[in-house]
Amino acid sequence: MITSQTQDIIPEKWYNIVPDLPEPLAPPIDNSSDRSSIELLNSLLPREVLRQEFTFNRYERIPDEVREIYAQIGRPTPLFRARRLEDFLGYRGKIFVKFEGATATGSHKINTAVAQAYYAGKEGIEEVVTETGAGQWGTATALAATMNGIRSTVFMVKVSYEQKPLRKKIMSLYGARVYASPSTETPFGRSVLEKEPGHPGSLGIAISEATEYALEHGIRYLVGSVMNAVLTHQSVIGLETQKQLELMGEEANVLIGCVGGGSNFGGFTYPFIGQGKEVEAIASTAEEVPKLSRGEFRYDRMDTAGVLPSVKMYSLGADFVPKKIYAGGLRYHGASPSLSVLVKNGIVRPEEVGEAEVIEALQVFARTQGIVAAPESGHAIASLIRYCRAHREERKNIVVNVSGHGLLDLSIFDRVGI
Ligand SMILES: *Cc1c(COP(=O)(O)O)cnc(C)c1O
Repeated sequence: MITSQTQDIIPEKWYNIVPDLPEPLAPPIDNSSDRSSIELLNSLLPREVLRQEFTFNRYERIPDEVREIYAQIGRPTPLFRARRLEDFLGYRGKIFVKFEGATATGSHKINTAVAQAYYAGKEGIEEVVTETGAGQWGTATALAATMNGIRSTVFMVKVSYEQKPLRKKIMSLYGARVYASPSTETPFGRSVLEKEPGHPGSLGIAISEATEYALEHGIRYLVGSVMNAVLTHQSVIGLETQKQLELMGEEANVLIGCVGGGSNFGGFTYPFIGQGKEVEAIASTAEEVPKLSRGEFRYDRMDTAGVLPSVKMYSLGADFVPKKIYAGGLRYHGASPSLSVLVKNGIVRPEEVGEAEVIEALQVFARTQGIVAAPESGHAIASLIRYCRAHREERKNIVVNVSGHGLLDLSIFDRVGI
């Protein structure tokens, strides 16, 4: 049961920024003339998710069952003042941390997985399928499916499958069937293996396998980031933060988050930005994947294979192969169309952070606040530290979203001999 206290903080509606953007979103387009990828979405996504993808409604009611599950998986997540970090940095203002690592699966991804799996189950679908790279999204899908009484299948990029056996184990524990991709389960996987039996896999191949599997088995595909509906579900982060700040008698002046596809950043900042609050928003990306500062704003494929439609966004090109950085969740070539529009209009400021700075930030955060943050979140913390060092005398309230914990990603510290 949701207690009266948490019920006050978990919002009753998600927020959709689309009607409040400074310019309209360009519509998605098909990639080829022989198969409409927009039509294909009808068979791939739960109907309600598809409706939410294209809606201009500013708010969407969160079903009671989903709010109930939000409470069970750890919502509302904590918002706390990071006093020891303030002291360490000598910052005169206040630093607040919203900690999405406190959910059952350890990141924000469960917020949308629960909603999508709920709609699939309600529409009579008995199984969902998705792909996963580093494993966070697959883990969220596995638990969300189980909590909604449906089965799940996850295609996990083969290199990660082999390098991260603990991730595979958690997904299996939650009840998912996990295949290393490329696999022999789908025609596309088999064709890749025929050409190159030792293929290490890629996110693009895994998406193609998952979507092919969905169409072949008449089940639904869950989307982890980038799409509007996903960012709408993630608004639970920012809406909770607003209520928690209000209860503390505080306001946010600066918001900082990391960007892979843009879902935790959008979910965290949009309720502030869209409702016209005067905030400085900083989007922290990986130096090796500088899509927001050096990408082009143009139509591009969301997935390498082009199964999903093309959207207008900042992109390094769907065929861009990033260096193998530890923050697997930040390797995506593009960024959500709404976030791209906000960056283009100067409302969100992108910033790039390199791995050495991220490792230092993770160490500082662990030693001051006791939390081992995910390498992805380490980018946001690094941007926070940069900001505080550059504006020591300022008295602004900075809120940073820590999208996940890093207890399964400790190998990032091998580099510094920890
Ligand atoms: C997936 C992931 C990200 C990046 O994805 P977004 O859609 O940009 O939020 C960031 N942090 C963590 C912990 C992740 O798992």
